[in-house]
Amino acid sequence: MGVSMDVYIVPDLAEYRGLARMNSNSCTIRIASKATNLIPVYVSVLSHEIYHCLDYFTLDYDHNGFKDEGCQYGNHYCSPTEGYAKFGAEIYMNECGLDYDSLSNLKNGMDGCFVSPRDILPNYFH
Ligand SMILES: [Zn+2]
Repeated sequence: MGVSMDVYIVPDLAEYRGLARMNSNSCTIRIASKATNLIPVYVSVLSHEIYHCLDYFTLDYDHNGFKDEGCQYGNHYCSPTEGYAKFGAEIYMNECGLDYDSLSNLKNGMDGCFVSPRDILPNYFH
């Protein structure tokens, strides 16, 4: 995939559990420490941020056709950007479970369970 991602656990991110910031050729992910205490929460938040990065770097930020499908998870996820990342996390966990090792591999573009960014689709759960 050729996307370099760095993950940092930080003490606090105000109202956020995770944030992804895209640079010219890398992605910096910050995860609030409170989101790392429970594995299901950590995998959900980290995979969400990873799919933000993949959306940006492998899909030219086209959000793979998402419109407002993310609304089913709450208002925060109504935008195409957030809907795509939320579905990315949900689909990742559906396909790969809570395998943290695979998630680390995903981050590094290595072997392991992986759902291609183009396979994150609005109708996945239908
Ligand atoms: Zn997000």
